[in-house]
Amino acid sequence: MHRVKLKHLIMGVALAAFFFTSIGSIWSGYRMNVDSIKENTLETNRVYAQKLASTADDYLNEAFQILSYSAKQISTRMDNEQVLFQETDRLKMQNQMFNSVVITNAEGLVLAISPPSVDIKGEVLTSAGAKEALAKKSPTISKPYEAITGRLIIFMSYPIFSASNEYLGMVAGSIYLKEPNIFKTLLGEHYSKDGSYVYVVDADGRIIYHQDPARINDVVTENKVVQAVMAGKSGDQLVENTKGIEMLAGYSTVTAAGWGVVAQKPLQVALAPSFDRVEEFIVKSIPLMVISIIIVLWAAARIANPLQQLATLTEESLDSKNVDDLKTVSGWYYEANFLKSVLIRSLSFLHGQITFFKDQSTVDPLTGVTNRRTMDALLTEWLAKKMPHAIILLDLDHFKSVNDTYGHAVGDKVLQFLARHMEAVVREGDVCCRYGGEEFIILLPNATAQEAEQIAEQLRTRLAQADSPCGRSVTLSAGVAVYPEMADTTEALIEAADSALYLAKQAGRNQVKMAK
Ligand code: GH3
Ligand code: MG
Ligand code: MG
Repeated sequence: MHRVKLKHLIMGVALAAFFFTSIGSIWSGYRMNVDSIKENTLETNRVYAQKLASTADDYLNEAFQILSYSAKQISTRMDNEQVLFQETDRLKMQNQMFNSVVITNAEGLVLAISPPSVDIKGEVLTSAGAKEALAKKSPTISKPYEAITGRLIIFMSYPIFSASNEYLGMVAGSIYLKEPNIFKTLLGEHYSKDGSYVYVVDADGRIIYHQDPARINDVVTENKVVQAVMAGKSGDQLVENTKGIEMLAGYSTVTAAGWGVVAQKPLQVALAPSFDRVEEFIVKSIPLMVISIIIVLWAAARIANPLQQLATLTEESLDSKNVDDLKTVSGWYYEANFLKSVLIRSLSFLHGQITFFKDQSTVDPLTGVTNRRTMDALLTEWLAKKMPHAIILLDLDHFKSVNDTYGHAVGDKVLQFLARHMEAVVREGDVCCRYGGEEFIILLPNATAQEAEQIAEQLRTRLAQADSPCGRSVTLSAGVAVYPEMADTTEALIEAADSALYLAKQAGRNQVKMAK
């Protein structure tokens, strides 16, 4: 399995921590911003609705006062058309409160109207608002209704009484809901620029003012804020309007008429700057993020590198048997340094032990016979003592083809097989040695040439007759040499045996030759 590297692990963990921290702080910043925007907008709209409601209240009270004053003035002049017209004209022009002003007699017959373009002089008002005012004989504000002119209006009236308290008629003003009117002047349009706007509902939840004229006269009682305002409450609230749009709304009641003023802003519009802020924040922090990421990557590499190097160099040290490369690794932090010194100590110890045991060993690991180093030591010792001895140098015939045909593993088995045969034919005190590859030397202390040749011959014939691990017999060729008769140094002795071996190979293999 492909394991994750420490470097990548550190990078991953650091980057993940970095990423989640950033997301978290952006998110909480955004939430805080959103909450404060909501709060502020609700507060602003509540205060604004209150201000507008009280302005509307003042306006209505003032309107009643003006109508009341007028009613008193004209109560003695009801027979003079000219005076009545001048009065309607004055009321309409001077105060700009009403779209039209009318004076009727007690039966509702129109005695005067301004502007004269509303041509209903001499007609009897039969609309619900007018009838209600005539019947009540007291100040009224009507519900919105369609007047005889076909306009949607609100009708404000004040009764006219004679000095003897006889009901003479009324003076009344109309507000044309779907045309430029006093509401527009009062509630203004400038406020809608930041996405906020104002609307007014009457006591039945019917819209009497809205920036969108098409909404006027809509009944919106399902709106929670409208319900609150109809119940006479003031306040603010996040509300879903009749079109399903979430609004931050402030609301307040107009006491004089039982109306409600709602100032509101769509939540989406209010929060837009917040999104922009987040975007701006992200864009601004990109350079910092890039720098942080680079630092994280660099730090991860710095931390992981010593461990990485220690791992690779430890592996190499097992082959090269030295720890010098490990010493060059920078252990710049505690664990790496500790690991480094522990590795250097334990590997040095391990290598020392291996060398020690190798030096101690006298045996060839494959065949189990004496190794060459020990053989050299023995020969040197015997020579120093001038002890007579013979050697048999032997080499397998065509061994290459055994390897080629049966494989190296079978070749090894054949070498072991040969070793067992050597051990079987030698005398007590003789030493079988592996000289190198598939060449062996048998040391025969105090043996004569004849004795040595006999043993070699015995080995040769036995081997040639036996089935080796490769399934057939193998043969050997051998050269025999004797000290001190044929040489006075070990090198010369082996050389003499080698020459004899060469002759045996030359003569057709599977034979023993005596050195000269
Ligand atoms: P010759 O009769 O001339 O000696 O022919 P040969 O094929 O034996 O020739 P040579 O001595 O040049 O080849 C020796 C071969 O022995 C080559 C090498 O692959 C093989 N050999 C040496 N050591 C080992 C060993 O430890 N195990 C195995 N399986 N083969 C070895
Ligand atoms: Mg050979
Ligand atoms: Mg050979």
